Amino acid sequence: MSVSIILAQKGNDVVTVTSQSTLADAVEVLAARKIGAVVVVDKGETVCGILSERDIVRRIAEAGTEALQGTVSNCMTSNVVSCDTSETIDGLMEKMTAGRFRHLPVIEGGKLVGLISIGDVVKRKIEQAERDADEMKRYIAG
Ligand code: AMP
Repeated sequence: MSVSIILAQKGNDVVTVTSQSTLADAVEVLAARKIGAVVVVDKGETVCGILSERDIVRRIAEAGTEALQGTVSNCMTSNVVSCDTSETIDGLMEKMTAGRFRHLPVIEGGKLVGLISIGDVVKRKIEQAERDADEMKRYIAG
């Protein structure tokens, strides 16, 4: 299964913040949308980073809750690994495992067109395993 099929099911909505947003604003967005990461987008809709709950926890551990008044730019990961719509679930799993992260922005023609989380990947893998098991049962039953 490819990224384009996952996006056709889940939609193209991506929650974003700007690099000059405060961490407190980003925390509110993460809590309100019940998500674990936001993509950081500046002028021209260019992806310039990703900010995950883990980054915020680390920052607070280092600098205390005052860090929440600082900007996203000081806390985000700038070197973003992305995928495109033609990539497969197995390819995404490899990227997530190698990079030790749970979110992959989808970029097509330089534009942000979606976000795949590890939850999306696991859901499709379970569905695939269930389909394979059903097929096997039908085959055995003749
Ligand atoms: P996560 O497991 O996605 O919550 O993120 C763990 C760490 O990886 C955090 O420091 C994130 O900023 C970073 N991270 C998350 N997604 C990506 C990505 N697609 N590319 C690069 N770094 C990422």
